[in-house]
Amino acid sequence: MRLVLLGPPGAGKGTQSARLVERLGIPQLSTGDMLRAAVAAQTPIGLKAKSIMDAGQLVPDEVVIDIIDQRIDAPDCANGFILDGFPRTVAQAEALRELLAKKGGGLDAVVELVVDENALVDRMRKRVEETVAAGKPVRADDNPESFKTRLDAYRKQTAPVSAYYAEKGELKRVDGMQAIDDVSAAIDKSLGR
Ligand code: ADP
Repeated sequence: MRLVLLGPPGAGKGTQSARLVERLGIPQLSTGDMLRAAVAAQTPIGLKAKSIMDAGQLVPDEVVIDIIDQRIDAPDCANGFILDGFPRTVAQAEALRELLAKKGGGLDAVVELVVDENALVDRMRKRVEETVAAGKPVRADDNPESFKTRLDAYRKQTAPVSAYYAEKGELKRVDGMQAIDDVSAAIDKSLGR
C-alpha cells in the first residue's frame, strides 16, 4: 500500500505512522527525519537545510523530491510505504504523481488528520516536556517562534495539498482530535481494513 499522511505539525502523523508500520509491514518515509539525519551527518544537503529547518521554513521542493525519488526505489519499499511530511506543497504532490507514474503505479490512499489548530501549540509544548523528561535532545524547531513559522508554512503551502487531493476525489479525512487508539481505528476504517 502506498499511503500519504497529511496534517499540520503536531497532528500526530509520526505517532500514527509508527502504528501503521507495525500493522501494514511497510516503512515510514519521513522527509523531516531524513533531513534531520542529513543535518546530523553534515552532508551537503544537511548543511544547506539546517538553517531553513531551524527557522521552521520549508526546504526547496527539488531537494525533498530528489530524496523521495531515490528512497522509494529501495527494496524495503517494494510493497509500499507511508509518506509522512511529504508532499508538503502542490508542486511536490505533482512531482510525486509523475514519479510514481514513471515507476508504474500511483497512490492507494491519502489520509488527512484533521485537528483543531488551537491544540497544536499545546501538543508541541507537551512533546518538548516529554523529550526533556526522557533526557533526549529537543528539536531545534520545537520552540514557539519556529513553531509559528511551521504553522504558517502549513497554512500557506501545505493546506492546498489537501485541496489538491480532495479535488481529485482521493482524500480521506480523519478526526485527529480523538484518543490515539481511536484515531488509529478511524484510519483503518478509512483504508477499508
Ligand atoms: P513537523 O511535521 O513536526 O512540522 P517534520 O519533521 O515533518 O516536522 O519536518 C521538519 C522540517 O523539515 C520542516 O519544517 C521543513 O523545514 C523540513 N521538511 C520536511 N519535509 C519537507 C518537505 N516535504 N518539503 C519541504 N521541507 C520539508
